[in-house]
Amino acid sequence: MNKITALEKTGKINLSLKEEPSSLNEIVSLKGRKTLISGAASGIGRAIAIRFAEAGSDLILVDIDKKGLDEVKEKTQLNGNAVLALCSDLSGKDAVRDLWETISPDVPDTIVNNAGIYPFKDYLQIDRNFYENTLEVNLNSVFWMCQNFIRKRGSRGGIIINISSIEALIPFKEDMAHYSVSKAGVMALTRSLARDYGRKGFRVNCVLPGAIRTPGTESLVKKAITKLQLNLIRAGINFNSRLTLGRWGKPDEVAKVVLFIASDMASYVQGTMIPVDGGFLSC
Ligand code: NAD
Repeated sequence: MNKITALEKTGKINLSLKEEPSSLNEIVSLKGRKTLISGAASGIGRAIAIRFAEAGSDLILVDIDKKGLDEVKEKTQLNGNAVLALCSDLSGKDAVRDLWETISPDVPDTIVNNAGIYPFKDYLQIDRNFYENTLEVNLNSVFWMCQNFIRKRGSRGGIIINISSIEALIPFKEDMAHYSVSKAGVMALTRSLARDYGRKGFRVNCVLPGAIRTPGTESLVKKAITKLQLNLIRAGINFNSRLTLGRWGKPDEVAKVVLFIASDMASYVQGTMIPVDGGFLSC
């Protein structure tokens, strides 16, 4: 029985050395797999959905933005793979629980926790609602998503990929303390789960993007320029000077790394934080 057939029959993720895939095509392929991607309607999440569809994965796309979700659904169901689009606001433990109830028993074997927000705000102006909302979307939703996933997968194991940020390691931009806290939490959660559940069949890793041109970052840049927010413009110039590749990245450049981690190419990659940042963290 080849690896893919075995996976289709058992739903078990191959984390051992016993069933070594023989060809590169087979190692990269996600055929017979099912991936849940949050924040799939835009930017990095959208690019991940497109690459995963190309690799043959069935998809569960989740986002708060229905229109964007429908467009990505249409774009990703061209290869005979099944695509389910679920419009959901992931802030709140109950919302996450409801999502998993909707999905069950058709549980994915891989989740990519990508949905996130990055509003700027002066630390001294931050009130409880603003702070809690950032944590709800960026950190708590990931916490509950992983818990539901591990419970539902049980002994079948699975793959978790969390999207953090370079800001968790180097808080470079002003007015982002709330965001840095949330993304540092995602890193801590990733490493804790990798330690606690690695031996139980779960591979858990996180990706740290930086300087990726997406609708989210584009709108921030536009706002800074049109409102002549000089501190943001200055931060942008300093930021760019640290990019040793000399340019911003494309969402697909993150998606390819996420695909690598989800595939058997990364079968021995565990508990890591992989920057995809054009060299930002390297200097
Ligand atoms: P984006 O704004 O283009 O896309 C984010 C998606 O998340 C949107 O489709 C949005 O609707 C969805 N979303 C937001 N709140 C949600 C909620 N409560 N429930 C469900 N969906 C929700 O952003 P992006 O730039 O593609 O960022 C994606 C992820 O990458 C985020 O977690 C972000 O923090 C992280 N990141 C991005 C960069 C970058 O340079 N773009 C850098 C570091 C980290």
